[in-house]
Amino acid sequence: MAVKLKVDKLSYKYNELTKILKGVSFAIEQGEFIALIGPNGSGKSTLLKNINSILKPDQGKVYLDELDLQKLAKKEMAKRLAVVPQNTTINFDFTVEEIVLMGRAPYLSRFKGESSQDYQIVREAMELTNTTQFADRRINQLSGGERQRVILARALAQQPEVLLLDEPTSNLDINYQLEMMELLRKLNREQELTILIVIHDLNLASQYCDKLLLLNQGQIYGFGTPEEIITAENIEEVYGSKVIIRRNYPSNRPYVTLVDNCYLPNQQLDHKVHLICGGGSGRKLMENLVEMGYQVSCGVVNKQDSDWEVAKSYGVEIISEAPFRSISKEQHQANLAKIKGVDTVVLADIPFGPGNLLNLEAALWAIKEGKEVIIIDQVGIEDKDYTAGKGSSLFRKLLDEDPLVVKEKYEVLEMLNQKIKM
Ligand code: ADP
Ligand code: MG
Repeated sequence: MAVKLKVDKLSYKYNELTKILKGVSFAIEQGEFIALIGPNGSGKSTLLKNINSILKPDQGKVYLDELDLQKLAKKEMAKRLAVVPQNTTINFDFTVEEIVLMGRAPYLSRFKGESSQDYQIVREAMELTNTTQFADRRINQLSGGERQRVILARALAQQPEVLLLDEPTSNLDINYQLEMMELLRKLNREQELTILIVIHDLNLASQYCDKLLLLNQGQIYGFGTPEEIITAENIEEVYGSKVIIRRNYPSNRPYVTLVDNCYLPNQQLDHKVHLICGGGSGRKLMENLVEMGYQVSCGVVNKQDSDWEVAKSYGVEIISEAPFRSISKEQHQANLAKIKGVDTVVLADIPFGPGNLLNLEAALWAIKEGKEVIIIDQVGIEDKDYTAGKGSSLFRKLLDEDPLVVKEKYEVLEMLNQKIKM
């Protein structure tokens, strides 16, 4: 792949006292979709403005293909590189179509007006950004999100090879943010548009972009795939926040969750907990256990079940059965084998039918093996037994073994935490 945009040892200061960019170097290949991330004030907007020559670097260079952007005439640059700035203030009361048409300015000669081809390109840009219906409206009559799409349409009308965007999704609601990212991904894939986007939301960046460029105090802290950049160490170091990194299902991209300091484990606890759950009965507890640092596994859970999805997203080991299938002997055995190696088994408040009765057997087996078993029993077995009595009789056998029984999930956490302290 050819390098499309290259920033070489770029430094910038607004005044003598404040050096903002300190020797920034990186290269973006043609067709890459890159997120520029970093805390407020780290220099992201300043970097973008240096790339598109709104600001002049004190040192260093920016190349597009082999062209030195500082030496390129504005018009020539605008044919290759377009910008969607953070705050666009348009003073004049232009119509939407007039604004998108401005994107054609770099292609117009002094003596000729817009050709039918220019209008065609404008129409396409408006269709792509879903702004056609506003063509005759005044830009000031549009909502923030709609206006942002018009500015994007104008940028696309420039038919650039590289598109720079500065937080185009901030202040927009979540649906619109996703729509914008989907559109950018589509442009990136279908038209091989090279994109560098400043984005506040680390999870959007992780989800949509090929690589992340992490800026910290005017220097590049890291440049790599979402997996390489979105790590708890990096985020803690650069943003100063404690986070948990999960895998987003099904994309498998890292997903950042901020955590309350008091819940964050300094290290993995040396205590293994196996959750017998299903149908969402284990969901909340599983999240809490993982966030507290316990080594969690679960089973037997049907694939695609909501407990299965949570377990997937946390990277929790799952003994699973095919969707909607009864637990097979094999998976039951695998469950028992797993249980053998853990410290505590928790039986969640699951309804029992013929398909998952073996999970109750597993709990009974565990307690007979001498495992510590905690049962969450809020509902009462009669109200969750759909097996014409088989489940109830098994459950009573289980109670005869004198397990720990609690009514609420938080009591499980309290019990476990008590043990950890001892
Ligand atoms: P980011 O976009 O990452 O939030 P900026 O590039 O906007 O960061 O700002 C980086 C630093 O430069 C900040 O400390 C900011 O206060 C400072 N800064 C931004 N614009 C100016 C300016 N016009 N004059 C002086 N300092 C500025
Ligand atoms: Mg900024």
